[in-house]
Amino acid sequence: HGKRDKKTEPKHVKPDSNTQRTGDESHSFKAETQMLLDMVANSLYSDKEVFLRELISNACDALEKLRFKNIETARSQIQGNEDLKIEISANKQEMVLVIEDTGVGMTKDELIKNLGTIARSGSRAFIEDMKKKGKSDMSNSVIGQFGVGFYSAFMVAKKVEVQTRSSSDKSGYKWTCDGSSIFHVEPVEKETVGTKIILHLKPEAREFADSQRVEDLVKKYSNFVRFPIKLNGNQI
Ligand code: ADP
Ligand code: MG
Repeated sequence: HGKRDKKTEPKHVKPDSNTQRTGDESHSFKAETQMLLDMVANSLYSDKEVFLRELISNACDALEKLRFKNIETARSQIQGNEDLKIEISANKQEMVLVIEDTGVGMTKDELIKNLGTIARSGSRAFIEDMKKKGKSDMSNSVIGQFGVGFYSAFMVAKKVEVQTRSSSDKSGYKWTCDGSSIFHVEPVEKETVGTKIILHLKPEAREFADSQRVEDLVKKYSNFVRFPIKLNGNQI
């Protein structure tokens, strides 16, 4: 793709009349985010499995935030914490892996900001590392050391769909990106508060649609998780 360094904010691309009707909006990534995305998506990095650690850790963060919010508003006594959970489903036929949490969720603005720009230090370190080393050597990159957060999903997914509903919202929003320079945001019906990440896996990442493989990975990475995790309906 061409030079994109003029862009400093996720730019709103004017929706055509067709998409306007459904409330679909297209946004282009900030140049730096695009660079990270391209590198992650095309990476030869062998430990692609770290994406699951990243997505589970994001789910935990969201659950912690909701728990904290509940304590603040004194709703925890009434509600309890039994609803704070992570549900994963792996579907081999559809080549889809879903990670769903009942955490704090995101408003439309948060969705655009949080998934359209890079905030985390790990990602910054990654970009600096890549600038130094060039694209060729991913093996010792900071992907494994610090992780690249949400965008690591693109190591294994050709398309990522995020459905989310904030605890302070009545409706949900859907974020989609096929790894290109544009992401879409549109309203979606979502009954429950929280976030659902749907990964449409690349053919070469089909192992992550296998429930046994996913179970082993969850066990490997879930020692830090203090919330219940279910895989295809079964407690892990
Ligand atoms: P980090 O976790 O270091 O902040 P990430 O790239 O992993 O960076 O995630 C970016 C941001 O996207 C998070 O800070 C959070 O605001 C938002 N986010 C990602 N996943 C979720 C989720 N499951 N629920 C709510 N917010 C999320
Ligand atoms: Mg994270």
